[in-house]
Amino acid sequence: SLSEKLQNVFKNLRGKGRLTEADVKVALKEVKMALLEADVNFKVVKNFIKSVQERAVGQDVMTSLTPGQMVIKIVNEEMVKLMGDETTELVLKPASELTVIMMCGLQGAGKTTTTAKIAGKLKQKGRKPLLVACDVYRPAAIKQLQINGEKQGVEVFSMGDGHKPVNIAKAAIEHAHKNGFNVVILDTAGRLHIDEDMMTELIEIKENVDVTQTVLVVDAMTGQDAVNVAETFNGKIGVDGVIITKLDGDTRGGAALSIRAVTGRPILYVGMGEKLSDLEQFYPDRMASRILGMGDVLTLIEKAQETIDEDKAREMEKKMRKAEFDFNDFLEQIQQVKKMGGIGDLLGMLPGASAQLKDVEINDDIFDGTVAIINSMTKKERSQPDILNPSRKKRIAKGAGVDISEVNKLVKQYEQSKKMMKQMSGMMSGKGKRGKFK
Ligand code: GDP
Ligand code: MG
Repeated sequence: SLSEKLQNVFKNLRGKGRLTEADVKVALKEVKMALLEADVNFKVVKNFIKSVQERAVGQDVMTSLTPGQMVIKIVNEEMVKLMGDETTELVLKPASELTVIMMCGLQGAGKTTTTAKIAGKLKQKGRKPLLVACDVYRPAAIKQLQINGEKQGVEVFSMGDGHKPVNIAKAAIEHAHKNGFNVVILDTAGRLHIDEDMMTELIEIKENVDVTQTVLVVDAMTGQDAVNVAETFNGKIGVDGVIITKLDGDTRGGAALSIRAVTGRPILYVGMGEKLSDLEQFYPDRMASRILGMGDVLTLIEKAQETIDEDKAREMEKKMRKAEFDFNDFLEQIQQVKKMGGIGDLLGMLPGASAQLKDVEINDDIFDGTVAIINSMTKKERSQPDILNPSRKKRIAKGAGVDISEVNKLVKQYEQSKKMMKQMSGMMSGKGKRGKFK
């Protein structure tokens, strides 16, 4: 799958301390192949690789990241950008007015199913939706909508198959006005392929009915075709938003990546299964991390970015190298680590650190007592831990309201940390240094 392929590319990068321009090129060539194989639009891939390359080469590697993680970070950010950065909601009129949503798409894309799924979401929001059976060509279509509507507890309006879709739509809207519905969802007929009759029918509805949102449903499993379909529909009838179905299971994520870039239209929801509850809001960042298949790494990168003040980190690195690390630094470290969600995460981010530190036992529980103890130390004691003799320790324990053994434990921990910092600074001078992609 796409994410497996990308993971392999980054695995190769992850082993390296520093990236050269050649490394970036090789990695991005593989990213490119993986994206093309996943059916991402060729032009989209080309532009995508170009912008990643431009950003990666010559950029500083953040102190807290490896070069490989840095490339993942950029690829991820560009993917999110490609998909539109933010979540786009289906636009509804105020509840006092009637919103008309027209669903369109090829046969089998998932229109009827998605119509019922949306109805459920709207009902949860306190809306009163009416589903309208405008697919008059397939005998089973009306029945299917009725069954789904019933499951959702939502009324279905139908006139059988002897009427034109546009007239059914008009009649349904009248029915809605009379009966207090505030959203009408038109389930239109698809065709197996793009077809003039289908387009004409949809245009006719739009010309005669005040459609609030035209929603296109495409099947993720059709890959590049889904993108072409989206482009054509948008060109011919105008589309406000896209829903990608069948993203559950083993589908190639390509359609999700290209549709926004090719059509300029946002993805609103994604279908994640056949059940009527399987419709999810579309989050570009979540989709990118799903495509990259590296949720954990990305979360860490994000946290590192949010919380680590780079200057402070650099200063700390200097101190570590000289092993000047004192209790003030220790306190600051604790605060940083806490902000980042725990020491386990922090260690996991340091290349090679987990192996080095496997016998040093540290866990987050120590923090609460630790802070109290350090707060009970004098300035001098904090900056010169060597002077901590038994009587000082006794005084500190009393001040912090803990047993003296806790103070001893902390001092020991501090010494271990200092040792560990020394080890890390050795590793950092090899790997984590502020390098440049050259
Ligand atoms: P329509 O012809 O566009 O109205 O498509 P349907 O709503 O009849 O759906 C066609 C098939 O796709 C049905 O078997 C649905 O159960 C299935 N389907 C729709 N959406 C999803 C989805 O998100 N995931 C999966 N796995 N199946 C879906
Ligand atoms: Mg249908």
